[in-house]
Amino acid sequence: NLSERLMKVASFVEKNTMLADIGSDHAYLPCYLVHNGVITHAIAGEVVKGPFESARKQVKSEGLDKHIDVRFGNGLAVIKEEDHVQTITIAGMGGPLIASILEAGKEKLTTAETLILQPNVHAKAIREWAIKEQWKIDQEAILEEHDKIYEILVLKKGLMELTEQELLVGPQLMREKSDVFRKKWLNDVFEWQRILDQLNKTALTEDVQAKKDELEKKISLVKES
Ligand code: SAM
Repeated sequence: NLSERLMKVASFVEKNTMLADIGSDHAYLPCYLVHNGVITHAIAGEVVKGPFESARKQVKSEGLDKHIDVRFGNGLAVIKEEDHVQTITIAGMGGPLIASILEAGKEKLTTAETLILQPNVHAKAIREWAIKEQWKIDQEAILEEHDKIYEILVLKKGLMELTEQELLVGPQLMREKSDVFRKKWLNDVFEWQRILDQLNKTALTEDVQAKKDELEKKISLVKES
């Protein structure tokens, strides 16, 4: 059974697209998509031996060897031009790691039309990368599962401009202001405030002041959103 988080990621995958799932672990996402008739072929990439073997076993046990190609390699390096990959999913990692995988493999993005990214934290790093590399936010989602809150960003090629606030909390999510969105930012502000209170008790060095300024800035951006 697929987690709600991965179900939501799956819901953004367009029918019959050629998919590469990077950091696939057990390859649950591509297996689900093929079984449900959303896609017929996928590549599952893994850079760690254990998860790579798990993915191979899972694909074999589900009888999907002819549909899902499990490949060992770092990030987008598993993608070849002749694969004509249209959709790339990267889920379950921190935003900065996802952004660094995209940055390191950007020459592999020529055929890609849609990037479906699910950062566990720091989605901002992905929005910054997207602006720099001329991808725009097509859709955004936020959900809570097992007391954790996850964001999903669907990127398509194109230009976008974001305010500092939108960069931090997401332009569409900010407009929707769902209960989960409110909860996430209340939690984060609470945590930042707690750190600020700690910093206020320590000696004021330049580093401490910089950290305080950064936290205060983020708190005010979130409070205004
Ligand atoms: N995508 C699955 C999900 O959302 O449930 C698995 C998430 S798991 C927490 C992250 C996976 O990404 C791990 O299996 C890890 O080995 C893999 N990974 C991390 N960095 C990677 C990279 N540069 N290239 C390929 N896989 C990577």
